[in-house]
Amino acid sequence: MRIAVFGTGYVGLVQGSVLAEVGHDVLCVDVDASKVEGLKAGRIPIYEPGLEDIVRKNHAEGRLNFTTDAAEAVKHGRIQFIAVGTPPDEDGSADLKYVLAVAATIAEHMEEPKVVVTKSTVPVGTADKVRAKIVEVLGARGRSDLHFDVVSNPEFLKEGAAVADCMRPDRIVIGTSDPESEELLREVYAPFSRNRDKLIVMDVRSAELTKYAANCMLATKISFMNEMANLAERLGADIEMVRQGIGSDQRIGYHFIYPGAGYGGSCFPKDVKALIHTAREVGFEPKVLQAVEDRNEEQKSVIFDKIVAHYGSDLRGRTFALWGLSFKPQTDDMREAASRVVMEALWKAGAKVQAFDPEAMEEAQRIYGDRDDLMLCGTKEATLRDADALVVMTEWQAFRAPDFDLLKEKLKSAVIFDGRNLYEPARMARRGFAYYAIGRGLTE
Ligand code: NAD
Repeated sequence: MRIAVFGTGYVGLVQGSVLAEVGHDVLCVDVDASKVEGLKAGRIPIYEPGLEDIVRKNHAEGRLNFTTDAAEAVKHGRIQFIAVGTPPDEDGSADLKYVLAVAATIAEHMEEPKVVVTKSTVPVGTADKVRAKIVEVLGARGRSDLHFDVVSNPEFLKEGAAVADCMRPDRIVIGTSDPESEELLREVYAPFSRNRDKLIVMDVRSAELTKYAANCMLATKISFMNEMANLAERLGADIEMVRQGIGSDQRIGYHFIYPGAGYGGSCFPKDVKALIHTAREVGFEPKVLQAVEDRNEEQKSVIFDKIVAHYGSDLRGRTFALWGLSFKPQTDDMREAASRVVMEALWKAGAKVQAFDPEAMEEAQRIYGDRDDLMLCGTKEATLRDADALVVMTEWQAFRAPDFDLLKEKLKSAVIFDGRNLYEPARMARRGFAYYAIGRGLTE
C-alpha cells in the first residue's frame, strides 16, 4: 500500500521504516530540509536500536523515500499519517499548530479521497479540529466534493525500543466509525497482527483518550513508587525490598515500579500536563494527575538535595562526575531529562560537571554548547579525574557494574549519588563508599 508519513522524528521515521520493512511503499515528508537530505544519504538523525539498518535497507530497495515536497507526499498515499510534534504550550495544553498545518497541507494538495491518520499524541477532540481544517481548505479551493476521513491511531512505541515495539506491538488502537477506513487500516497493519488480532477498534475520542490514559497510568506508577521511596527513607525501610514485595503480587506486577530521580522525556511530562489541562477545560479537577505531576517535579531535585545535604549549599570549587544524560537508557533524547535538572542546579550552586553518556553527548553539546562548568568526556572513567563525587542519572547497562576500585582511586573521595538505585548499599558500605540512593533508608 502507498503511504505518506508527515514528520520524520522518533515516531514518523520509525513507523515509516517499519511499514516499509513489511512491504508498504512509504514516502516520508519533513519540513526540515537538512534532516531529509541526511536521510536520503543514509544519515539517521536519532539513535534507536536497529533503526539505521532498516532505514538504509528499505531506502536502498526503494520502499522508503524521503522528501520535503508535501504535494508529492499527498499525491503518493491513499493513507496520510500525521506524526509531527505536539509540544506543550505555555499553559500545559498540547500545541496543535504542527498537526493543523499538516491537515491544511493535505487539503491544499489532495485531488482524490484520502484517509488522514493522526499518530501524534493529540487531545480529545483534535480529530474534529483536523476535519474542520480540511473542510475549510477544501471549501476555499472549491473542492468540497473530495471525500476524506480522519482516523485516530495513537502511537505506543517506547524510545529506546521503538523499532521492536512497532514490529511487535502489544496492541494497535484505531479510532474510527467508518467501516471503509477501518478496513484500510486493517490492511496496513495486517503484517503486525499475525499471531492474534492486535487491532482494538473504537470511536475516535476514546482512541485519543487511550493514549493519554496509558501514559498517565505509567507516570502514576512511577510517581507512586517515588512517593513510597521518599517515605521509606524517612521510615528506615528499603524501597528495593518493598518493590520486590509488591511486584510479586500479580495484580501489581514488576513492570514500571522502579523508584528513581523522576520521569522525563518528550512524552510523560507533556502528556500528564496536557491531560490535566483537558480535564480543567471540561470543569473537572484531576486530583490524581496533579499529584503525579507535583511529585515528579520534586523528585527531579532529590539527588541535588542529597548533594547539598552532604556538602552544604555552596558548591563552588567542587566538581562532579555525572554518568547518564539521556532521560533513559538506549536513547540520545535529553528532553526533560532529570540529568538536566541536577546539572543546572549544580552549576547554579557553583560546581563543575564532567559528564559522559553512551549516546547523548552530541545532544548535550547541542543543548549546552561550550561552557566552562561542563566538560563532556569521551569515557565514563574520564569523568572521574579530580571529581569530588560520582552522580549516576541514567541506568545504562554500562554503568551497572563499574570497577569500584578504580572509582575509589580516581575520585577525590569515595562518594556516590545514585539516582537509579544501581548498586547494593550494603556492598557499597563494605567497599568504603558514602552511597546515597533513592529510598534506601536503612543504609543511609
Ligand atoms: P519529533 O519532534 O522527534 O519529530 C517531529 C518531526 O515533525 C520533526 O522532524 C519536524 O521537523 C517534523 N514536522 C513539523 N512540522 C511538519 C510539517 N508541517 N510537515 C512535515 N514534518 C513536520 O517528535 P516525535 O517524538 O516523533 O513525536 C511526534 C508525536 O508522536 C508527538 O505528538 C508525540 O507526543 C507522539 N509520540 C511520541 C513518542 C516518542 O517516544 N517520541 C511515542 C509515542 C507518541
